[in-house]
Amino acid sequence: MIEKWKRIIQSARHPLAITGAGISVASGLPTVSSRWRGIPLREIFTLHLFLNEPDRFYRCYREVLLGWNAAKPNPAHLALARWQIPIITMNIDGLHQEAGSPHVIELHGNLRELICLGCDSIFSSDLARTDNFPLCPSCQGRLKPNIVLVGEEVHHFSSAVDWVGRSDVLLIIGTRLEMAPCNQLPKVASRTGATMIRINQEAERIVPAILNIKPNESVHPFHQ
Ligand SMILES: [Zn+2]
Repeated sequence: MIEKWKRIIQSARHPLAITGAGISVASGLPTVSSRWRGIPLREIFTLHLFLNEPDRFYRCYREVLLGWNAAKPNPAHLALARWQIPIITMNIDGLHQEAGSPHVIELHGNLRELICLGCDSIFSSDLARTDNFPLCPSCQGRLKPNIVLVGEEVHHFSSAVDWVGRSDVLLIIGTRLEMAPCNQLPKVASRTGATMIRINQEAERIVPAILNIKPNESVHPFHQ
């Protein structure tokens, strides 16, 4: 299988990767199924809890930030970055950018930033490390982690559809793409006839193995 996938990627002109939690497991990161004090993160990172119990929300968020600080890109992130393959990710860990990937759509936002609910300004999540409930330095509005909470819409979805529509080989890594609206993306690829390669286990071993070849000179990363 690895040899076949290598050949497919070698001849790709517009490869694209869609990544989910599975690619970051080897970096030691929690997933939405992980628990904080016995409660799954998906039940804490909700708009409802943020608005109604911000202190509890931020206590959990601060602990997640500590774990995130310790995480580093693994060989799967680094191999995708070396090839400069554009990436659509559901992860909020920013490890693709840290690995050096220049073109990344973060569908679920990221842990680097806070966004002001008053003026939409973006600030570093460092502001949440000390304040119990950080406020905007410009307008004193409430700052919300710039991650997509349960109850909010994903970011940049139309760009993601556009990227998938222009790709000829799609690497689907560490996600089964079962949840709406991301389950639409493989359907777009099916319509355009793109080849899909699904890697659900051991991404940190398999992705470098299939990309351990010289990138084709004619591969063109496309821009947003
Ligand atoms: Zn503001």
